[in-house]
Amino acid sequence: METNFWQKELEAIDREALNKLQLKLLKESVQSALKTQFYKTRLQKAGIKSADDIKSLKDLEKIPFTSKDDLREGYPYGFLAVDLDDVVRLHTSSGTTGIPTVIYHTKTDLDNWSDLVARSIVATGASKKDVFQNMMSYGMFTGGLGLHYGAERVGMTVIPAGPGNTKRQMQLMKDFRTTVIHITPSYLLHIGSKLEELGFSLKDFALKKAYCGAEPYSENTRKKLEKLFAIDVYNSYGLSEMNGPGVAFECVYKNGMHTWEDNYIMEIIDPKTGKNLGEEKEGELVFTTLRRHATPLLRYRSRDLAFIYKGLCKCKRTHRRISRITGRSDDMLIVNGVNVFPSQIEEVIMRVPEVGTNYQVYLEKEGALDKLIVKVEIYSKMFKGEITELDRLKLRIIDNLRASIVLTPIVELHEPGSLPVFEGKAKRVVDQRIKI
Ligand code: ADP
Ligand code: ZN
Repeated sequence: METNFWQKELEAIDREALNKLQLKLLKESVQSALKTQFYKTRLQKAGIKSADDIKSLKDLEKIPFTSKDDLREGYPYGFLAVDLDDVVRLHTSSGTTGIPTVIYHTKTDLDNWSDLVARSIVATGASKKDVFQNMMSYGMFTGGLGLHYGAERVGMTVIPAGPGNTKRQMQLMKDFRTTVIHITPSYLLHIGSKLEELGFSLKDFALKKAYCGAEPYSENTRKKLEKLFAIDVYNSYGLSEMNGPGVAFECVYKNGMHTWEDNYIMEIIDPKTGKNLGEEKEGELVFTTLRRHATPLLRYRSRDLAFIYKGLCKCKRTHRRISRITGRSDDMLIVNGVNVFPSQIEEVIMRVPEVGTNYQVYLEKEGALDKLIVKVEIYSKMFKGEITELDRLKLRIIDNLRASIVLTPIVELHEPGSLPVFEGKAKRVVDQRIKI
């Protein structure tokens, strides 16, 4: 396979030079962080008064972690490291609790971000020849604008479709011969289930690639999507605190996501002890921004769980790769005392060929006990079959789930199109247990 680069000298930089660059940029980040109200106090308490107190990359460990709660407390200006005059955009996220966080960008910050996205796009083998339909939300959510500017920078023909209106999406894909799309995996699954009903077939499209991210999905879901559309699906990871998309992206080899390490120092820590776990061990991803002037963040705890692959990728990029995000350290469900990650459930049901493109997990209380209900949509032809066939399928799904999560769930089979549809990030888990 041919490897194309966007910024070859940085993407294929040798590790020693990369470490040197990281140290230089880390010092700069610390220096600008010291200009913020938040880090001035926090770093001085930890004995860091100037960038000179950082002498090697190992000194990173002296820097305390930054959490989402810190960001909330610092709202609105606590993390601003430049003059407001130099800020050209901000993104806020309200998160689940409703308390906002804010990330500011200078012109240079946005330029760097676009380059990271451009690198990511080129790494998948796409180019200015492609027609790119962006089905992620525009606005405060960073998924839309992030990919938009990166794709323009590459020179692709960009269709800023945004999410929703499935029929119109398909019409745009057909009329403009869209070759690359950016979309949540759950919305792409949904589109897949609507194709025929809305009068389209794969023959109408010129689609080659989909960039899927913003929410966790399993390898089995990727396979399902690739088969459904006869395309390549690439995993894209990002979080608004680190700009948004363009933090880590798969290359043509689709074996983990290259994290742009000249822009982010990446660590994997044990979420309980904060200890660095190195490579190949799963833990929480922690990021330090290296090139962001307006809002430098040091050792930001993402709460996302993943591990770092050992070894180099065949594409010759030297930036290390992370695994799929298996979940967030805070999305683990405790069901009758057993720990369950929603990703385990997804993994199992997406492997069952009769299962359609949508599912949801419900948690309810029955007396003192928790009830785990997994609702799955089944392809319509199954519903025309015998009842006993449906019963057998249900038992098979229960058995598979039990083997993975060590719990016996209730499984409900639903007709296609009957469960709620998500055009952005899906809400797969509905926890109706009363929390005390
Ligand atoms: P919020 O934190 O409110 O969801 P963001 O838009 O910043 O807002 O979302 C970032 C989060 O989305 C990440 O921390 C991660 O949990 C999830 N995410 C993004 N991309 C992926 C991906 N490819 N796989 C799994 N999870 C992802
Ligand atoms: Zn690669």
